[in-house]
Amino acid sequence: MIRVVVSGAAGRMGETVCEAVEQAGDLELAGRADPALQTPLADLLQEADVVVDFTTPEAATANVRECLAADVHAVVGTTGFEFDSMHAEAEAAARDGKRARVFVAPNFAHHEGKLDAPSGTAKRTAELIRDAGGNVHDPIHSVRLPGLVAHQQVIFGSEGQTLSIRHDSTDRRSFMPGVLLAVRRVADLPDRLTVGLERLL
Ligand code: NAP
Repeated sequence: MIRVVVSGAAGRMGETVCEAVEQAGDLELAGRADPALQTPLADLLQEADVVVDFTTPEAATANVRECLAADVHAVVGTTGFEFDSMHAEAEAAARDGKRARVFVAPNFAHHEGKLDAPSGTAKRTAELIRDAGGNVHDPIHSVRLPGLVAHQQVIFGSEGQTLSIRHDSTDRRSFMPGVLLAVRRVADLPDRLTVGLERLL
């Protein structure tokens, strides 16, 4: 059994992750960390093989640092998380003999409560298209409306025609297969810090 602690467990994503972990036969929900539950992550790290974090960028950065220090793997879904600086910290932890891996999953949420715009996934998609030689329209358009959960559309335009690729998520449960895949695989990742679900597919 992989023991999973969920950080941000009282939040929208955190609650859904707790349910998914509880329903998975090979995973054990070892703890729920959240200010609303008055349970700091630090109190639960001893119980964890993997921490799943869906909090805020500031909290996630501090939480992942704690995970690295305690040699616990981290799966980070929080957007705005500064993973660039985490490379150096993950390497430093490894030099101290720590084996912990950090996996960062990109984000797709576009509901009205979402704080950042454009989303991490939108920015990453733009980056990948630019790297492939494409011209990316500036700015990236971000819609935030009641009734939306997570929707991403890439429109390729040409003379007299367009090609659209669109993904719609209407329930946070749609993110759970990716989260659970990351929980199951994070310990075996070759790199100390991995960004992007495509690295696991
Ligand atoms: P949310 O409902 O606001 O939940 C965040 C929770 O984290 C809140 O309960 C918050 O408590 C708690 N929290 C704050 N600081 C904490 C800390 N230091 N330790 C533990 N918990 C802490 O937000 P959400 O909609 O679930 O989204 C969470 C994050 O996931 C956002 O960054 C969002 O963009 C991202 N997201 C990613 C994906 C993806 O596919 N990767 C999908 C959806 C969402 P308080 O309210 O008391 O501060």
